[in-house]
Order: sequence, then structure tokens, then C-alpha cells
Amino acid sequence: MEKKRVAVIGAGPSGLALLRAFQSAEEKGAEIPELVCFEKQLECGGLWNFSESTGVEEHGSMYKDLYINGPKEVNEYVDYSFEEHFGKPIGSYPPRSVLLDYIKGRANKFKLCERFVRHHTKVKSVTYSESTRKFTVTVRDYSAFDYTEGRLYSEEFDHLVVATGHFSTPNVPEFQGLNSFKGSLLHAHDLRDVADFKGKDVLLIGSGYSAEDIACQCYKFGAKSITITYRSFPTGCSNWPESIKEVPLLERVDPNGRTCHFKDGSSKDVDAIVLCTGYLHDFPFMPESLRLVTGNRIWPMGLYEGVVLEAEPIVFYLGMQAQFYSFTMFDAQAWYVRDVIMGRLSLPSIEEMKAHSEKWGSAEGEALAKRDVKTFQANYVKELIGLTDCPVTPQMVDETLQMGSDWDKHKELGIMSYRDHPFRSAVTGSLAPEHQTPWIQQFDDSLESYLTH
Ligand code: FAD
Ligand code: NAP
Ligand code: MG
Repeated sequence: MEKKRVAVIGAGPSGLALLRAFQSAEEKGAEIPELVCFEKQLECGGLWNFSESTGVEEHGSMYKDLYINGPKEVNEYVDYSFEEHFGKPIGSYPPRSVLLDYIKGRANKFKLCERFVRHHTKVKSVTYSESTRKFTVTVRDYSAFDYTEGRLYSEEFDHLVVATGHFSTPNVPEFQGLNSFKGSLLHAHDLRDVADFKGKDVLLIGSGYSAEDIACQCYKFGAKSITITYRSFPTGCSNWPESIKEVPLLERVDPNGRTCHFKDGSSKDVDAIVLCTGYLHDFPFMPESLRLVTGNRIWPMGLYEGVVLEAEPIVFYLGMQAQFYSFTMFDAQAWYVRDVIMGRLSLPSIEEMKAHSEKWGSAEGEALAKRDVKTFQANYVKELIGLTDCPVTPQMVDETLQMGSDWDKHKELGIMSYRDHPFRSAVTGSLAPEHQTPWIQQFDDSLESYLTH
């Protein structure tokens, strides 16, 4: 019998997790389907790759000097610890470059890219035939030809997994007078270097982790003042330094092109505005009937077990949730999706799937009311790992959840110093060393610098 073919779109952390899940089944002697992972970038690692310029097509959303905002121990690979990768324990809050190296390290160890990934190949469209039950994936391969041309080709697959992330298409709301703003106006997606804001008055719109982290960065790099304007809730930070203030939402920008008026009647003259207004789930290559439609939430509706598209339960989406757990959750999802594809797990009826999702949907509501999405996501990860041989264990989930509550406490102690606290690895048991240089004094985000200073 011919091997089934599985198309995976995206070789970021979630796509790589699926490749590793299949490869681990193979290690244990199982026959796995043929996997083809299409990745439009030259390298794997998704958003953790840094685009120097925003001039290039579809640059990434991470900016210079980005450090992780939760301890690395929460999202450590069980089958590839940080200590294994770096040869020694390292600090708990490394910069982006260190995380990218680690993600690639696991991919290299298990030869995921060389075996399964077609790099520099962008998926342009997907169609599904009800009669043959096959997907046709049409891609442009830029690897062998010059970038503008590429080679267009199509292949057929039995299964489709979308792992393209959801923090790449900016959500750009409008505000009265914003277009006539005379200072610099950009979305966080286009921010490269906060050092540009040294000595400037900066306005951040939004109160998610982008707003919080960019406020910290602006402070670190010497902005004169930072004003955060929020729609629903302020960031929740209780200890901003003097120069950071939070105010209700921007109402309009004065025709003078400088003065911003807020809903509480206050105003502020600013030099720069950064829209920290989040991102859109965007799947332009998918046919409408197979497209996931959701906002950035902890329980996107329409996905059974958070991954199976209820509208067409032959399509899988990975990593579409708002994330406290990232790599750990992607592994839990990947092992589950693998087992559904391999027929080791069967799906219930559509009605049962929907009822199950509704239950999680109402639990999401309760979690939001209690302002505790971490426990919700921990419970979700536990449900998935209970169904497969994913190496993440419930004890580890409990330990990392405890790290989450310590993390909250550290942030209350000091928003500019929380990244200096070390955590103990739930994988190796080693306590991270205290990093020599406090975060506020780290001005070199390279891997070499982090591993030596
Ligand atoms: P992505 O990383 O977005 O990878 C998706 C991949 O799909 C990319 O490689 C992309 O090139 C590819 N792709 C997309 N469309 C196509 C196509 N049509 N054809 C072929 N390939 C395609 N998480 C943390 O755990 N800790 C953090 O500190 C943290 N910081 C973050 C900071 C920022 C500014 C942002 C935006 C996110 C941050 N995240 C963080 C979350 C981050 O999104 C996840 O860690 C992780 O990168 C998600 O992995 P993914 O594979 O699902 O998506
Ligand atoms: P997000 O969590 O979706 O937050 C979006 C914010 O924009 C919310 O505060 C939302 O307000 C607001 N918003 C949306 N539409 C708006 C509108 N029309 N008017 C006013 N406000 C509006 O997105 P994010 O903050 O960009 O975070 C994305 C991901 O990146 C997260 O996973 C985060 O952890 C990660 N990240 C990490 C770091 C790091 O330090 N490592 C840095 C940046 C980002 P409401 O609450 O009212 O909806
Ligand atoms: Mg298990």
C-alpha cells in the first residue's frame, strides 16, 4: 500500500513539534507517513528568526533586544533540555537569539529539517476534493530560482496541518486624526530597534504583552516618557517607574498632529506611536471552508481538542491559542495530531466534538473571570498528554504552573527586574545560574554575549 502523505505548513516551533512527534514514533518502530513540511523562510524556527529590515517581504514580528518574557523552564523540551543543548545550565531569561539556537538544536539533533522540510517554499493555495478526499497544495519554490520568480508546483496529500503561527499579520485599528500624526507611527510588527526612541515621548496603544514589553524596552533604552493607552484593562503592572503612565484609550489625535486626547479627558504630546494592538489569524492560502476564524484567545472555538477543525475534521491547526505554554503545548498538540493521523486515536461524532469544545469554551470564560488563564492552559495540556505518549508529564505541567505563579510574584516585586530571577529546570532538576548582568544592563542581545556575560 502507498504511504499516506501529510503536508505541514510552517517549520516554526509548532510545525517542528509535529515532525518530531512522527519521528519519535518511528524511533519506537512505527511506520510513519510521508511528511512534507513547507517553510517559506530560508531557515526553520519561525518568529524566532530576526528580520534586520522591514523592507523585505513578510518580515518577522520580533524586534532587536527581545528577551523572553516568561522563564525558559516553562517551555523546555523534555527530549532536549537547555542544558543538553548549551552544555551547561544558563540563565532563565535569554534573548531571542539563544532561543532560536535552542529550537534549531532540537531540529538538528533529530534531523527534522534535512529529512522533512522544503525551505524557501511558500504555500500559495490549498484545495480539497470531497470526492478523492485529497488536498492539493500549490507552492512557490524560491530555493532554486531567483526570488521574484520561483517555481510554481502542486502536490497531493491525504492530510493537512496548518502551523503558520498567528503573530505575523498586524491588527491595525483606526483612530480619529491618527493618519495626520506628524511623528513616527508604526505597528509593533514593524518595530526593529527601540533605541530609536531615546529621549522621545512615546505612546503605546494596547495593554497586552507587546505593550508591556515595549514599554520596558523603551524605558531601558532611554525614552523620555512612555504612555500606555488601554481599551479594556490596563496592563496589570503595579510598579511602573515614574516615566511610564497608563491612561484610558486614545480618542483622537489633534489636528496639530502631536497631541493625543484620551477617553478620560487627559492629553499628551508625543513623538512616536506604536500600535501594540495584536495580530490577526490569517490564512490567505486556505479555502474559506477550511479556514479557522478566531481572535487571539486561550480557547479558539471551532477546534476539537484545540487542534482539529470541526468544520472539516480532516484539517489540523497547531499553536492557534494565546500562549502561556508555547513549546510544551505544541508538543502536546503535535503528539495528539500525530496519533489521530496515524489512526491510533479516533475522533468522535461532530456533535460530540462540538459539545466537548463548548465545555472548554465555558471553562475559558471562568478562567478569564478569575484572570487565571495559566491553569486553564495547564489543564488543556494535561488533557492532551493523557491521550498520547508525549514525554511531557502531568508533574512537569504542575511544576511549570508553579513557575507561572512565581513569575507573577517576581513581576510584582519589580517589572524591570523580574527577568533576573533563576528557575529550576523541571527536565534536569538543575537550578539556573543567576545571570551575571541584570536584564536592565544587557545591551547586547547576541548569543555569544549572553553565554559569556
Ligand atoms: P511561528 O513562529 O509564527 O512560525 C510559523 C512558520 O510558518 C514561520 O516559519 C513562517 O515562515 C511559516 N509560514 C507562514 N506562512 C507560510 C506559508 N504560506 N508557506 C510556508 N510557510 C509559511 N513565545 C514564548 O514562548 N516566549 C516568548 O518570549 C515569546 N515572545 C514573543 C514575542 C513576539 C514579539 C511574538 C510575536 C511572539 C512571541 N512568542 C513567544 C510566541 C511565538 O509566537 C511562539 O513562541 C512560536 O514562535 C509560535 O510558533 P509557531 O510555529 O506556531 O508560529
Ligand atoms: P495581544 O495579546 O493580542 O494584545 C493585543 C492588545 O491590543 C490588547 O490589549 C487589546 O485590547 C488591544 N487592542 C486590540 N484591538 C484594539 C483596538 N481596536 N483598540 C484598542 N486596543 C486594541 O497581542 P500582543 O500584545 O501583540 O502579544 C502577542 C504575542 O507576542 C503574545 O504571545 C506575547 O506574549 C508575545 N510577546 C512577547 C514579548 C516578549 O517579551 N518576549 C514581547 C512582545 C510580545 P483588549 O484587551 O481590549 O482586547
Ligand atoms: Mg501520556
